[in-house]
Formats: sequence, structure tokens, C-alpha cells
Amino acid sequence: MKDRSILWTRRYDWSCEYFNAPTRTHRMQLKTILNRVQKHKSFVYGNVRWRRREGRLSLSVSVRPRKNSRPVCSECGRRGPQYDRLAPRRFEFVPLWGLAVYFVYRMRRVDCRQCGVKVERVPWGNGRCRLTTTYRWFLASWAKRMSWQEVADVFHTSWQSVFRSVRQAVIWGVVHRKWGRIKAIGIDEISWRKGHKYLTLVYQIDAGRKRLLFVARERTEESLRSFFGIVPRRVVSGIRFVCSDLWKPYLKVIAEHAGQAIHVLDRFHVMSRFSKALDEVRAEEARRLKKEGYEPVLKHSRWCLLKRPENLTEKQTVKLAELVKYNLRSVRAYLLKEDFQRFWEYVSPGWAVRFLDEWCTRTMRSQLEPLQRVARMLRAHRTLILNWFRARGTISAGVVEGFNNKAKLTTKKAYGFRTFPAIEIALYHQLADLPEPKFTHSFW
Ligand SMILES: [Zn+2]
Repeated sequence: MKDRSILWTRRYDWSCEYFNAPTRTHRMQLKTILNRVQKHKSFVYGNVRWRRREGRLSLSVSVRPRKNSRPVCSECGRRGPQYDRLAPRRFEFVPLWGLAVYFVYRMRRVDCRQCGVKVERVPWGNGRCRLTTTYRWFLASWAKRMSWQEVADVFHTSWQSVFRSVRQAVIWGVVHRKWGRIKAIGIDEISWRKGHKYLTLVYQIDAGRKRLLFVARERTEESLRSFFGIVPRRVVSGIRFVCSDLWKPYLKVIAEHAGQAIHVLDRFHVMSRFSKALDEVRAEEARRLKKEGYEPVLKHSRWCLLKRPENLTEKQTVKLAELVKYNLRSVRAYLLKEDFQRFWEYVSPGWAVRFLDEWCTRTMRSQLEPLQRVARMLRAHRTLILNWFRARGTISAGVVEGFNNKAKLTTKKAYGFRTFPAIEIALYHQLADLPEPKFTHSFW
């Protein structure tokens, strides 16, 4: 009896799902709600009417100016005498109970002493947009959790409307954000679209505050210079650590603008060099084995060798165990890379250096050319890598990698956007931790 489905055991009372035209009490309730969540000093809510639009039921709430109130000029913000009124316009509000809600209002024109005859300014939106400000913030906040197209589908609106809502949220946020004190920044690049298009991303990576600060096209000197162009001087002079790869254009601009900061070659960028080297060894070996007629043991092994052991799937673990049986160059390269992970665990820089030197010596004897290149790079930039230990405590560990993954996910999820402005806005929206205005009521 107990494991019977509730669908078939419980008797559902369909009579509760009645549908009626709104009575006077219904109207009163909606007005009460609106006055609670979205009250305007100089305007009042009037009648509420059912409307059917494109097969969907919606509510239209008429709005009218409070008696004797004078319209505000949209140009200068001063009140002036009413000139005339325009035809009714609809502004879409946040849906209630799944019903679209519209404010219907006849905009007044102001006879402004300064600007002439102008359309008035209304508190729930701007003159050009048919969505209310509250609804745009509502859509923008959902766009952090779902793709823009999904938001558009769920709320029966267009991709364009969602995009515009996110854009206004980002613009507001960027204008109102506070720089504060920034001790550490991370500079990273991600590839975007096919055909080697890059974006330069600058993050704040302090242990206490992590956020995206800036997005620029390409990965040139100009990309990074434009970042230093917008940050106030006092903020730049407070930067103590800069994490980045050894990308020449970046290094040059960092030296120019933040010469006081200590450059750190961070874990993420060092380890991505390893991944590249490993890929080379594996690809070269796979080619050789195939040529010599061996069975293709290295097929589908790429991820076994690139992932950390704890991140492998069960199938990949079996594959790795199988690979280790062969004394392959790829496997030796893999073991050298995994061994190097220990470097980051050291507490004392002294011991870390000893390990680094010992590891480089071993690798130089390994006859694995791509890894030898990594070893040479590590030797040449010993100080920069050891700066990682000096920065510990200030920089939040693993943060550059975390941001890199999130940024890639954002660009991947962004099917709709083909243009730089759209991807730029999506990245700020997801990663910049931008402020939002305070509302009397939060809908999310
Ligand atoms: Zn004016």
C-alpha cells in the first residue's frame, strides 16, 4: 500500500482550479501587491484588466499621475507644466503567477522652460524601452543562472530583450563599482571563437576579494595598456603581486605601469605548459607507434594523461593502469609532470628550490625534448616561480585557474553571441561581482 504512487492513490480535487474574471477584491489585491513592491510617489495604480495576447493571458494595470502632480522633464529633470498627453503605452513588468503584467500609461509632455516641449521622465522605466527597469533587472539576474536563450524562453521574451537587460545591468554595475584596494591581479588570456581570437582578462585575486576587473580584445600590449588606462593611479600603485604567463607584451606593459609589483609565474600557467609538453610527447609517440605497426595503446589516452589522477573517471583509471604497463615516453612524461605537482605543496621556499633543481636535473636526463624545454623555462625563471611562495597568503590559491574555467564556460554557453560586445558583457555579468541598485522588494 505504502509504495503506491501518489498520483493514483490521492484523489485530486479539481474543483479548486476554477477560473473567474477578476472581481473587485482581486483588483484590490493586485493593487495592494504593486503598492508594496513597486510604489511611485507621483503615480497611482488604476484598473486592472485581463488581456489575451498571442494566446497568452496577461494583466494590464493602468497607471495615472497623482492629482495635481506636474511631469518631470526627461532632459533636465525639472518639473514643468503639462503640455499634452500621448497615446497609451505599455511597459512590461515582472510576471506574477506566470501571467505577463503590463503597466499602461499615457505619457505626458512637459512644456519645459529650459528644453522646450519634451516627453516626461517616468520612474519605472526609460522612454525608449518597453520593459520596466524592475523587469530588466529581474531578467538580468536570471541570466546569471541560465543561458540568455533559456531566460528568453522561460519568460516568453526575446533574446534581444534579455541581452539588453544584461547590458544595462553591467553598465550600471561598472559605473557604480568601487575599486577599493587591490593587492594582487591575475592576467590571463582565453581563446575565443575559432581561428585563434584571444581575449585578455584581468582579475583581482586577493585572498579576500576575487572578481573580474577588465576584458580586452586580443592579447597585445594595447590590450593590457587599456586596463591600466582605466584604473585610478592610487589603485595601481597599491598592487603588490601580478600573476601572469611569460607573455612578452604583458611583461612589457606590467613593467611600464606596475613596476613596483612582484611578478609571479603562477601554478596554473606553469602547469598549462606541462599539459602542452605532454600533448606533444603523446602525439609524437602515437605517430611513431602507428608507423612501426604497434597496436594503438595511446588512442583515447589524452585525458588520462592530462587530468590529475583524482579527477579521472573509472574507465580512464583502467586505461591509465594499462598505459603504465608499457614503458612509454608518454607515461614517463606523465609521471614527471605528476611528480612536479609536489612542488606547490612545499611550505618552505628553501625546500621548494631544492626540489625544483633536482626535478630539472632528472628531466634534462629524460630525453623527452618537450619536457626538457619546460625544465629550461623553469630554471630560467626560477625567481618568478619562487615568487609564488612569497605571494602565498595574499593570493587566493587556484584562483586564476578557477576564473579561466568559468570564463571558458561563459564563452561556451554563449551560443547567441558572435560579437565582442556581447561576450564582454557576458563575462562581466558572470565574473565581475558587480553591484546592483537597492530595490524595495527583491524578486529573486
Ligand atoms: Zn527640461
